[in-house]
Amino acid sequence: TMSASKLVQFGTQHVAKGIGRLLPEVIESGAGSYVTMEGGRKYLDFTCGIGVTNLGHCHPAVTKAAQAQVGKLVHGQVNIAFQKPYLELIEAMKPIMPDPSLDTFFFWNSGSEAVEAAVKLARHATKKQNIIVMQGSYHGRTMGTMAMTRSKTIYGENYAPLMPGVFSVPFPYCAQCSISKHSDGKFSFSNCCQDPVLQLELLLKRETAPSDTAAIIIEPVLGEGGYVPPPPGYFDAVRKICDKNNILLICDEVQCGYGRTGKMFAVEHYGVRPDILVMAKGIANGFPLSAIASRKELMDMQKPGSMGGTYGGNAVACAAGVAVLDAFKKESILDNVNARGAELRKILTDAQKDSKTSKIVHDVRGLGLMLALECQPDHNYASKIQTKCIEKGMLLLTTSIYDTLRFIPALNISKEDMAKGCQIIKEAIEEVAA
Ligand code: PMP
Repeated sequence: TMSASKLVQFGTQHVAKGIGRLLPEVIESGAGSYVTMEGGRKYLDFTCGIGVTNLGHCHPAVTKAAQAQVGKLVHGQVNIAFQKPYLELIEAMKPIMPDPSLDTFFFWNSGSEAVEAAVKLARHATKKQNIIVMQGSYHGRTMGTMAMTRSKTIYGENYAPLMPGVFSVPFPYCAQCSISKHSDGKFSFSNCCQDPVLQLELLLKRETAPSDTAAIIIEPVLGEGGYVPPPPGYFDAVRKICDKNNILLICDEVQCGYGRTGKMFAVEHYGVRPDILVMAKGIANGFPLSAIASRKELMDMQKPGSMGGTYGGNAVACAAGVAVLDAFKKESILDNVNARGAELRKILTDAQKDSKTSKIVHDVRGLGLMLALECQPDHNYASKIQTKCIEKGMLLLTTSIYDTLRFIPALNISKEDMAKGCQIIKEAIEEVAA
């Protein structure tokens, strides 16, 4: 057996270099809100493996359900026959859908694949081709979703040509669209999203005609683009534009869905009905599983045999998924998200107000336990705070091209662990500001 440092050396040598990595360490195990590294170091995990282990690492009921399924049937294969966990998961998911019209399901493995399944469905159902995405969005790393990802150029750089037919509009990012007036009387805009609804209407007049546009895809809270919730009214306007032009609205809730924002789906905060809902990450608490839900009339248009995939809706992943929704009910997860979210938010808004730290805070935003602190630009404050937190025993991620920290603790984090996390964050911000 290799030592921790030998393992890191081995990984550095033999793992694809294209994978970025926060820590030169090896995770040995995880339990609840903590991960333990080879060598014994323990971290309070405010990353949840990028919003995946939302019920904590190795949630006992999820583990038990998966273990039981492993001994019964691992691989059923959707193109061979139905299997029970797949159907049971649909039964469990139906009542949590943000709209009852979302009654038909397709499972895949990753978020990217599910986004592509949504695009395939939208194209097929509308007999149109083009897709509109939001600037700042992240939809994945496959050839199709890379073209739709607009949060950082690194995801697509040197990998072109990407999927054609993708158009983009600004997302309403209020913290970045302040207008400054200069001494010579001229104005400059720090961002061009003054009226994102108008930009969308203009796009449909100038670049992609409604008769060519199959869908608009939106993350109801922007994830990799900075943990940005849109202002009230925005979604209604987009829904109206979709209805008027026979364009489908796809909501990518891969990161913001499944309780993260304090409601089961982020779109519920806005009361808008998606035509296609995309889910992944937290839905099986770490097992690879993704899903789309849509109306039966749309999904029934697809020819049998035109959809599939070897591993989609794996029986063990689906059994874990059923246990996840069971835990949501039994453990009142959403109540905890809102209570713990308020505690974390208070630490961040306090830092924004406190004269010792206010100079480094540009914006505090988010919903539930999907929170962000955007720092003033040009000082790398976010990565400095992140480094301090890691030193103090807490894992934390940044997000977007702006200097932004994102907080993604487990949705069932205890009051005690949240207090511990808040204390670390507070100290780290104060030390960086000092
Ligand atoms: N959509 C969103 C909103 C995401 O945050 C992600 C992953 N960060 C994806 C899609 C892609 O999911 P995956 O990495 O599972 O392919």
